[in-house]
Amino acid sequence: MNTAPDLSNSGQALRAQVAACTRLLNMAGILHYSGHISARVPGTDQIYIQSRTQSRAEVTPDSILLVDLDGNVLEGDDKPPSELVIHTEVYRVRPDVDAVIHNHMELAAAITMAKGAKVEIMDFHASRWAGGVPIMREVGHIKTKADGEALADCLGDAHGMLLRAHGVVLASESAPAILVDTLHFEDNLKAQKEARSFGDEIVPLTADELARVGQYEDRDHHVRKMWNYYATEGYKSGVIPEDWDVRL
Ligand SMILES: [Zn+2]
Repeated sequence: MNTAPDLSNSGQALRAQVAACTRLLNMAGILHYSGHISARVPGTDQIYIQSRTQSRAEVTPDSILLVDLDGNVLEGDDKPPSELVIHTEVYRVRPDVDAVIHNHMELAAAITMAKGAKVEIMDFHASRWAGGVPIMREVGHIKTKADGEALADCLGDAHGMLLRAHGVVLASESAPAILVDTLHFEDNLKAQKEARSFGDEIVPLTADELARVGQYEDRDHHVRKMWNYYATEGYKSGVIPEDWDVRL
């Protein structure tokens, strides 16, 4: 079966990026039977997102849905994820955000279960979250518009947030960036957890240290490099068909 997407317009390119990002994060063990990624059609109130029921390992560019911020399916044959409002309500109030992920990363849920625990910046690749990672304390799935509004309100102008006993939401500028941010967010949580196994007191990076490192950071370059690395791993392992040309 020919799975090659038509890349002649940005819609198809975005579909391919969302599909590839989904498969790669499934390969990384972060997405599994649930969790979802979306990308906004730039300058619009329309987003590409995977369907509610299809396996994250089998998503294709053509199976990605086009949905408006009221949840209407404009292109596609399935329902969007049941927690779609996580995405739509963040996009509604954050014009700087063009990609969102929600997933149930084990360490993200676990840190909300430790009294007083918060995300510390251990790894300079996590500097993006130095301003804080808010925690939504109300427990449960985010299914109504009011739930989505409360979540977006809790996120504020941060780049990520935790949902108590549930998971994480990250907000970025593109689908490749959301892949990179998701991997770094998990790596930072692993570092925070593992550092505690070596001593009682952990030593997060300071604001001064982060500022110094930030002077030399080229985010666009880093996103391109890491996205292309994972895309290549995806091609080699057969997770992404070779004819999806998603390398940047
Ligand atoms: Zn969820």
